[in-house]
Amino acid sequence: MKKNRFANCAPQGMPLHAIAKRLGDWRFVARRSSVTMRHAPLVHATRRWGTVFITICAFLFQFIGTPRAGAYVRDFTVPAAGGCPQPQHQNIAIGAPPLARQWSTSLPNINPSTILTVAPQGTAAQLDEIEATIQQTYAIWSDVSGTLVNANSYPNALGPLGRTSAQNACSNDLQTNIDGVNTICFNQNSAAFTTGVLSFTRVIVANAPAQTFGSAPPSVFVGQIIDADICFRNDGHATFATPGALATAPGAYDLESLLAHELGHVFGLDHSGVWRAIMFPFAPPPGTFFGDRPTVSAPDAPLSDDDRAGLRMLYPDPADTTDTGFISGRILPANPFALADFPATSLGEYVTGIFGAQVIAVDAATGSVAAATFGGWTCDAANPPPRFDGSYTLGPLSVGRSYVIYAEPFVGLVQPADMAGAAAGVCSAGALAPCTLPAINTNFAPRLGP
Ligand SMILES: [Zn+2]
Repeated sequence: MKKNRFANCAPQGMPLHAIAKRLGDWRFVARRSSVTMRHAPLVHATRRWGTVFITICAFLFQFIGTPRAGAYVRDFTVPAAGGCPQPQHQNIAIGAPPLARQWSTSLPNINPSTILTVAPQGTAAQLDEIEATIQQTYAIWSDVSGTLVNANSYPNALGPLGRTSAQNACSNDLQTNIDGVNTICFNQNSAAFTTGVLSFTRVIVANAPAQTFGSAPPSVFVGQIIDADICFRNDGHATFATPGALATAPGAYDLESLLAHELGHVFGLDHSGVWRAIMFPFAPPPGTFFGDRPTVSAPDAPLSDDDRAGLRMLYPDPADTTDTGFISGRILPANPFALADFPATSLGEYVTGIFGAQVIAVDAATGSVAAATFGGWTCDAANPPPRFDGSYTLGPLSVGRSYVIYAEPFVGLVQPADMAGAAAGVCSAGALAPCTLPAINTNFAPRLGP
């Protein structure tokens, strides 16, 4: 079966004083699966290059104490000066400058076009239609309650969506054009566009404060996303349709679904193992879209609760009194000798719990998935590096409700390779107090204790 899926690629090296980048590409791969597919598969790869330095985080929120795996799947950066991995996220905070964003009006000059719209090709109306799709897709995320991204509570969190006519407005394979502006580009060439790759997000992250890239303002904290650019290929190997054009373009990919997924990466999320999540690594097949379309009354409708939990985890609204619950624990094998073959992860430290389980919180009353995470480690700021003891934290969850927690291995549609990007940032060979990342453990069967 031919499928498209998202996947994570291994890190591409971590030079000190270099740049961390993440690529997520959509592509086709052939993979056999016995699972009934809800979505046809589209592959999204996530790739990372290096990162950079650190000192003390000028501001860094609650995870500076004891970061550990948390909902949903986030990426981490080990400070260049050593210490615990810090979650990657944009500098969205009260008092922070608005998120700088723009899109390039440079479109592929081929016939037929790769960007399908209701409006005629090459017209001002076409650009307006594409821009409206981008705005609506940003609104999917900025309507999530309980976050500093929320447009109603914090109308200045996101800056105005600018336009540029430059074809090269996005950071490129040469690691140039890093301008601190989160840009969407439709007219892109890249070595990352291997067979079947449709689009990707390149994320540049600081591993120290006061770090400068190009004309971007200096970084404020470790793990800060300096620049996240979304690139769509321009060679006619795939076509993308606005929601209005999709009905008459069954062979095109839904631009809104792709953008919503990629914007999740822009905000700092990695892939989720939850089928309903927009961050699930498998994209909808041509002619279809993820979840529900946004509406005026429910602009964030395409998202799942898992996506919402991820955004709240990254950008918690201090005024939120609803989504403030966390559930923590450890995933342990019934027989500890099952971990005996894992080598030491750092001097004198061994794997003492399941690393890389998907841990899921199900609302006990409704049966729906509230959040899930990639579990398995914790880090004591006073004594890094991370320990692989099976620790997880799920949240933020709605308080006053009951949840069933269970863990399962990534042995379904989502494979350990899809989670490689999320795992890779936990250890950094170049960092002080390094650790060696254990393999993602799939050798267990879920069973609730005792
Ligand atoms: Zn992705």
